[in-house]
Amino acid sequence: MSSAIVPTQQKIHPCFYAGAKGKYGRVHLPVAASCNIQCAYCRRDHDCPNENRPGVCTGVLSPEEASERLEQVLRETPHISVAAVAGPGDAFCDPECTLKTFELIRRKNPDIALCVSTNGLNVMGSIPHLSALNVGYVTITVNAIDPFIGARLHPWISIAGRIFRGMEAAHGLISTQLEAIGRLKAAGIIVKINTVVVPGINEHHLPFLAKNLGNLQVDLMNFLPLIPLAGTEMAGIAAPSEEKMRWLRQRASPYVRQMHHCTRCRSDAVGYLPITQDAIS
Ligand code: SF4
Ligand code: SF4
Repeated sequence: MSSAIVPTQQKIHPCFYAGAKGKYGRVHLPVAASCNIQCAYCRRDHDCPNENRPGVCTGVLSPEEASERLEQVLRETPHISVAAVAGPGDAFCDPECTLKTFELIRRKNPDIALCVSTNGLNVMGSIPHLSALNVGYVTITVNAIDPFIGARLHPWISIAGRIFRGMEAAHGLISTQLEAIGRLKAAGIIVKINTVVVPGINEHHLPFLAKNLGNLQVDLMNFLPLIPLAGTEMAGIAAPSEEKMRWLRQRASPYVRQMHHCTRCRSDAVGYLPITQDAIS
């Protein structure tokens, strides 16, 4: 059994608290192979761009391999405070895989912070299990709460093997995400929202989105610029400028604390977050 590397306490997560960035690191464990929705900017042969940098493709580990990998990482990199599942697909498309990984980790590491990123469609049923395992941090990608906008960004979703498309899919995804956020907060879990900024589609909607998420008491919001990926519906859309991203964060900051230092790591990233110019707060 590994000894605890850092005590469980607030502000040890380098993504949720920029002040922890140079002191603590994270490891991403790529155990989530598949996905239950289609984002119009995603190609399935890459890591989930809702959290990770598109353009890389990470191999998938079994829960046992992931647990072993963490033990090795902790032996070699003692400043790691967070173990996370963030792809390469969605963490709750196959919740057993993610939960088994966290169970194996918790048995050996009672104090490490556990973190998971998801599109939120299938997280709800796992919230009691996440609480029991003391998973402290959940990120949900919410790109719109207007179904007309959502339908352009998410052509389909899959629930229990059935595919829903268009407005029906958008309504289903949005209502499920909002309910999941409320339940995660009620369970005492720290919630970050990732939002992919797609010029001409959702950018004008984002201050309104931030206001609504603020009402749900989310803890942090992370605007990610679209990376137009060849072979996707969004390949022809130019990425938002840095100025536009700064403006959006400014407009949203009265409602929700903003993340300025996300580096869109790979879903198997290890160590400190890379240095960025605009790491503040
Ligand atoms: Fe791709 Fe992630 Fe969207 Fe799934 S949730 S389609 S992996 S971007
Ligand atoms: Fe943190 Fe962003 Fe990297 Fe996730 S992708 S570990 S939120 S810096």
